[in-house]
Amino acid sequence: MQRTALITGAAGQDGHYLAELLLERDYRVFGLIRRSSQGKSVPPGIEVVEGDVTDAGGMMRLFRQTQPDEVYHLAAQSHVGLSFDLPRPTFEVNTLGCINVLEAARLYGARMFQASTSEMYGNSGGPLTETSPFRPVSPYGSSKLAAHQLCWQFRRGYGQFVSCGIMFNHESPRRGVDFVTQKIATGVARIQAGYEEQIVLGNIEVARDWSHARDCMRAAWLMLQQDQPDDFVVASGTPHTIGDFLAAAWGPDWRRIVTTDEALYRPIEVRTLCGDSSSARQVLGWQPEITFESLVREMVSAAASRLKRQETRTDGDA
Ligand code: GDP
Repeated sequence: MQRTALITGAAGQDGHYLAELLLERDYRVFGLIRRSSQGKSVPPGIEVVEGDVTDAGGMMRLFRQTQPDEVYHLAAQSHVGLSFDLPRPTFEVNTLGCINVLEAARLYGARMFQASTSEMYGNSGGPLTETSPFRPVSPYGSSKLAAHQLCWQFRRGYGQFVSCGIMFNHESPRRGVDFVTQKIATGVARIQAGYEEQIVLGNIEVARDWSHARDCMRAAWLMLQQDQPDDFVVASGTPHTIGDFLAAAWGPDWRRIVTTDEALYRPIEVRTLCGDSSSARQVLGWQPEITFESLVREMVSAAASRLKRQETRTDGDA
């Protein structure tokens, strides 16, 4: 029997990779997309449904209409910096939205994947496991931690099949330009093409455990194929500094092309993130396949191709 999956936040980076994976495995895939996300590219082959995770009644109707076996709850206000400016909408989407999906999944008996985040740890140190202390330092981290705890409560309290992937930073050419990796990849492509000379960044004294989004979505799928739900850290296990990313994208003399601006600093910063994904490796048989170096290469080369396409379009318009 063909299985049905519902992806919330289907127009985002992760939604694209997950949709590809599910379609390859012959799922029928519904993708929830907000009206305000219209115009964003939609993964080919999915059936688009419009709605908003903050609308409880709408979520119930959506589950009744689509009858999913599995729901992947990816929809979120996922930008840490923006969450300081918009704490309330961040909680509405990330926490209340999660409650709505949890309740609908419970009523309709769908297995649920919740996209939790390494931002829940704050500056707890590392390497971080599923049981490391959570000390979020951003409204984003707090909103996701509340959702993470609710998932545990529904799992324990109602025996609901809900698994949380504690996703460390994951990137790809589909990453939004608000994130530092895409800002660097795009910046490097523009400098190489002669449009700019500098990339202006915020605090570069930080390190992140970056993986490829494609690898991370494979872990999400594996979580819902287990006999039991659980929480899993999804991470490469190797932190890299922003300098490492710049060196891989540009070369050892990257300082020549970077300026920093304190206006881009966050009110509180998570300095280093490093995940220990032993549990995902043992229980799910998961491991990342795409290295940090090939991730950076892919992002820079995709940014250069995008720029070329824009140039061709502009030339065509002239
Ligand atoms: P996050 O880890 O989910 O917040 O992912 P981001 O890609 O937004 O940020 C990663 C790190 O890069 C954070 O510590 C940011 O403070 C730092 N950073 C430094 N400069 C920038 C910048 O210009 N944009 C963003 N988004 N982050 C920056």
